[in-house]
Amino acid sequence: MANLATKAGVEGRQNLTIHAPLITLTKAEIIRRGLALGVDYALTHSCYDPDGAGTPCGSCDSCLLRAKGFAEAGLADPVLPGPVLPDPVPADPLLADPVVGGPTGPAGPGS
Ligand SMILES: [Zn+2]
Repeated sequence: MANLATKAGVEGRQNLTIHAPLITLTKAEIIRRGLALGVDYALTHSCYDPDGAGTPCGSCDSCLLRAKGFAEAGLADPVLPGPVLPDPVPADPLLADPVVGGPTGPAGPGS
């Protein structure tokens, strides 16, 4: 494409328009759009470093961005072992176990 565009540009024969319909969509929107169009995401991956069988690593930037897109769409990536949430939810201190780490702490040796 780049060679064709360069040749056409140098020769001045035609105007080219490059369409990039996904460029304004979020990853979640791209995933939803694909699902609406019938894409089977189990047949795809975006991994930079898949193993010899083509299984994605699940930890490279591309795998993480894809998983984040699925999570934002409320789905799990079908080719990764489990859902990857974009950001861990901090523990709610009000739900913490009142015995462990509570104001009195664990029982000491003299009690
Ligand atoms: Zn990967």
